[in-house]
Amino acid sequence: MNNFEFYNPTNLIFGKGQMEKLTALVPKNTKILLCYGGGSIFGNGVYDSVKKALSGVEVLEFGGIEANPHFETCMKAVALIKQENIGFLLAVGGGSVIDAVKFISAAVKFDGDPADILHKRILIKDVDAVIPFGTVLTLPATGSEMNSGAVITIEATQEKLTFGGAAMFPKFSICDPTVIQSLPKRQIQNGVVDAYTHVLEQYLTYKHEAFLQDRIAEAILSTLLEVGPKVAENPTDYALASNYMWCCTMALNGLLNKGVPTDWATHMIGHELTALYNIDHARTLAIIGPNLYRVMFDTKKEKLAQYGQRIFGLSGSEDEMAKAAIEKTVEFFHQMGMQTKLSEYTDDYAKTAGFIKDRFEKRGWKMMGERQNITPEKVMEIVALSY
Ligand code: NAP
Ligand code: FE
Repeated sequence: MNNFEFYNPTNLIFGKGQMEKLTALVPKNTKILLCYGGGSIFGNGVYDSVKKALSGVEVLEFGGIEANPHFETCMKAVALIKQENIGFLLAVGGGSVIDAVKFISAAVKFDGDPADILHKRILIKDVDAVIPFGTVLTLPATGSEMNSGAVITIEATQEKLTFGGAAMFPKFSICDPTVIQSLPKRQIQNGVVDAYTHVLEQYLTYKHEAFLQDRIAEAILSTLLEVGPKVAENPTDYALASNYMWCCTMALNGLLNKGVPTDWATHMIGHELTALYNIDHARTLAIIGPNLYRVMFDTKKEKLAQYGQRIFGLSGSEDEMAKAAIEKTVEFFHQMGMQTKLSEYTDDYAKTAGFIKDRFEKRGWKMMGERQNITPEKVMEIVALSY
């Protein structure tokens, strides 16, 4: 096992009826900016309960944060914050609203061009140089409610880029599983597959004598396999909703990657597909993940076989179990309503593969994955196989 530090300061408040605690969580005598997305919070009662909990507090609002949030939108909020002397941000929404708020928080006091945070992946470490924020989660998927990373799209250049740092943890996150009742089935399916892939990115690497990490990852995978298909059909079932929500947080709150190598190339390639074709984040992962495992089979097969044996109860030789494990994963993604071929979205294979390869080369992303063996050529092969 590798050495590690484990730091996570987010106060996670989980369960039914926890919204009333918001009153005590937000700072006193500070102007708050309530940030939200396209308006789902007005239809499901979340806005009303947030406003009720914040009665007596000076609250301004910033809505219209789009899915796969834009840098350009975030910069409008930055201007408003500077003008209005806002001291605290509250993100009410899914991963997109939370990620946008992270960027806004970092950009307000940033010394220089905030686009550099994305282009140069500047680490945001200084808590005194950001606007503190909390979240009310409405969509279990990304883990952003308890992690310090975010993904922002620059609309002008169609680039989807990640950033983060120790100052980007939410102060608190209120996670009430009953909020999923208003989610369209498609978003629940997306959430399950995003969380499942977050675990695979941190697990499907190579054997590393990190026995506990493996077992924690496997527990989350098994739970998502058990509850995922059911919760998409029965979002009002509290046992299903709460387990789904907790899996998503646990899949990416910084615990799973402790002491082990991680991959993340599926996400990096997937981000390009969202930037180019506006495919939902999780749906890009369902296309790329299995094909990445196929192309990188030789260096991943040992762990793929363990995954197949322990999660799907497979038996046989290492190669047989590893191959069957990939097919079982595809089967699960189909069960979760995913399409797993890029040709179902676009038929311009040569352009897409070449474009992504060129971009990665320009950014200097010449070696990705746990063994730093996913080269731009391999990326092209993975994208090609996805058609
Ligand atoms: P999302 O983009 O935040 O939301 C998707 C849609 O769901 C929106 O249209 C939203 O509507 C709606 N919605 C949210 N909550 C709802 C509710 N309770 N009822 C009804 N509709 C609801 O989805 P997401 O999957 O959570 O976030 C995806 C983004 O996160 C992507 O940009 C992805 O790259 C990023 N991501 C971040 C991390 C991280 O660690 N930070 C990890 C993985 C992915 P409204 O806009 O109207 O609310
Ligand atoms: Fe993700």
